[in-house]
Amino acid sequence: ARIGAVLRCSHCYGSAPWGFEAEQPFVNQVLVADTDLAPHEVLAEVHRIERELGRNRAAEAVERAATGQRYVSRPIDIDILFYDDEVIDSERLTVPHPLMGEREFALVPLCEIMRQRRHPVTGRTVGEMLEELRNK
Ligand code: ATP
Ligand code: CA
Ligand code: CA
Repeated sequence: ARIGAVLRCSHCYGSAPWGFEAEQPFVNQVLVADTDLAPHEVLAEVHRIERELGRNRAAEAVERAATGQRYVSRPIDIDILFYDDEVIDSERLTVPHPLMGEREFALVPLCEIMRQRRHPVTGRTVGEMLEELRNK
């Protein structure tokens, strides 16, 4: 089973590293995809795609331990921001993504493709979340 068709995607946005020091800037993009997979199956598929694109979580763990940083550079990071209007809080998966509202780099591309979408817990639209973050 695979994640299905990509229905919408934002432009790519450059941003400075968030939460750690890094050599290169980041590129962020948000997309909406169709899927028959359950949320935890989407997560497994995301991990498979990340691996295919060269991400090595074991090496990252070693680097995090060596540097003491919470985040280290990786070739790709794919997070699940929303899954329909589901609210999931399990050990492996939290949806909506808990840090979305604190991250302009996630909200800006998200707003491009779904400014009116509401967060299923807070009821705020993505556009309102970005405005609030910027007014902080
Ligand atoms: P952050 O959550 O700050 O964006 P990260 O993306 O750098 O952190 P990773 O090392 O990529 O963190 O992932 C750590 C774990 O986060 C994953 O193995 C996964 O089980 C878990 N996780 C929980 N919720 C989500 C989600 N909504 N999307 C992706 N991964 C999630
Ligand atoms: Ca992330
Ligand atoms: Ca991730």
